[in-house]
Amino acid sequence: MPHEKLISNLLGIPGWRVREVRLESETLAVEIDREAGAGYRCGGCGDKFLFCYDHEPTRLVRDFQVWGRACWLEFSPARVACPRCGIRTEGPDWIRLHQRQTFRYELYLAHLCDILPVLDVAQLEGMDKSTVYRIDRHWLQRRAETTPMPEVRRLGIDEIAIRKGHRYATVFYDLERRLVVGLVEGRAAKAVSRFFRRWGKRACKAIEAVCMDLWTPFMRVVRRYCPQATIVFDKFHVFTYLSTAIKTSRKPTCSERTSKRFIAHPIAPTLRPSSKTGSGAAPRAVWHPSSPWPAASDDGKRASSPSSLTASPMASRKVSTTPSRSSSAGPTATTLPPTSS
Ligand SMILES: [Zn+2]
Repeated sequence: MPHEKLISNLLGIPGWRVREVRLESETLAVEIDREAGAGYRCGGCGDKFLFCYDHEPTRLVRDFQVWGRACWLEFSPARVACPRCGIRTEGPDWIRLHQRQTFRYELYLAHLCDILPVLDVAQLEGMDKSTVYRIDRHWLQRRAETTPMPEVRRLGIDEIAIRKGHRYATVFYDLERRLVVGLVEGRAAKAVSRFFRRWGKRACKAIEAVCMDLWTPFMRVVRRYCPQATIVFDKFHVFTYLSTAIKTSRKPTCSERTSKRFIAHPIAPTLRPSSKTGSGAAPRAVWHPSSPWPAASDDGKRASSPSSLTASPMASRKVSTTPSRSSSAGPTATTLPPTSS
């Protein structure tokens, strides 16, 4: 097969052939022309004509990449003398009117936008992001118009942040089919109501359950338009509120316990190092609450301090005090009971 015929077959546009291929700096320019007898299609009404009126200057239309290089198709659009539309530019069936991308390339970009962010698609294909946005928007609208909307029984409503600051959009999901079925700007009751009004009474009646977070406008609107639907709260939001409530309720208790831990009791005994610890070792407490308190000595040298005993519930216990230390440390200072060696 000659190379010209092979390249024309690779082009894959019926009625058109490749006349010349040029490799430019970073792109591939493919000059194409009509095959003999292919005819012309009116860009207004779509009628076909065998002859053209004249030709316009050369246009460039972007197509699939070839071996990593952007590919531009060059052709001269014809004008036809249409009895109904007058002198009109032809509208080939492989390109949308006044567009600079082929049909198949736009569909390819739209499919890429389904799985990648628009900015990534623009960077991948070396295109302006506004062009990719425009193409994606057009094909999404076409898809929404031509695809029959299935009956939704379990609807999900959630909000997403769309810009910096408190700017939100509300997204509606078909939870069974995992499809996005609606998107409105804002999260107020007015915006959400707009979706349900467009959705229609019949579709609203078919909804059995609606899953949402604890946002009051969502609940109010669902109650108004889908009174038969069961409202189910999102588990994530419920757990968030629940953990916040637990933390809030535990905070005073924790702070109270923490503060008690470091406040000395008015008659707490003064700890002294054990006789067994060395001079360099850290002092070790020898008293323990479970240790028995010794009774006051009979000789009267360890008389209890009345002021310290009556100020505390522990006054019923028999606490021994040393007069010499209590005079220096105040009436609440007590000493440990003598350890039995
Ligand atoms: Zn026409």
